[in-house]
Amino acid sequence: MSLKVLNNRCKGCGICVEFCPKKVLIVNQFEKVEVVIEEECILCRQCEMRCPDFAIFVQK
Ligand code: SF4
Ligand code: SF4
Repeated sequence: MSLKVLNNRCKGCGICVEFCPKKVLIVNQFEKVEVVIEEECILCRQCEMRCPDFAIFVQK
């Protein structure tokens, strides 16, 4: 399993960052979400479920 971000869909709103319980994600200087500590990810899918633009996925 891994995290996949679709940069062309991400608008940098930060909703996924707020809902991630493990602080795995940040919004970078280009206003795109970035995975910073993937090893902390517990695969809860909050980011995937909360993103209004379907820009982040937990991949099997
Ligand atoms: S799956 Fe859960 S822990 Fe992993 S990045 Fe998304 S919100 Fe954070
Ligand atoms: S919720 Fe979606 S659009 Fe907003 S920063 Fe996260 S991945 Fe990007």
